[in-house]
Amino acid sequence: MANITTSKKDFKYFCAQVKYYVREFGLGDYEINFDHKDFADEGEPLCNSIAGVRENSNSKAATFLLNKDWSDNESPNEANLKRCAIHEVGHLLLCDYYFCAINRFGVTPDQITTIEHAVIRRLENFILER
Ligand SMILES: [Zn+2]
Repeated sequence: MANITTSKKDFKYFCAQVKYYVREFGLGDYEINFDHKDFADEGEPLCNSIAGVRENSNSKAATFLLNKDWSDNESPNEANLKRCAIHEVGHLLLCDYYFCAINRFGVTPDQITTIEHAVIRRLENFILER
């Protein structure tokens, strides 16, 4: 099976979409950075993902990542790159909630992540299917 990878052009589109939705969701107080790399080759803990975000609620900084290796997924196109961007901006939207929640007693980080994803999927569907 051919290895599916993301190009510089895909990365540029992903970054533009992230910037757009960061602005739309009023997240301009965050310092935003970008990185395009092969998650598995570079020991990125998000290695089974096609994109990701590393965020810090305290310093108000976020790095959006696009995986170069999309081997088991459909080929990148504007629609799925846009969905990835919205998904990762959704994490930033919930960043303060997440950091607050994982510090509470009796709730596991996995439970918080599951709840967070349910909210983000609703946002994706709301934005893309209206
Ligand atoms: Zn996610």
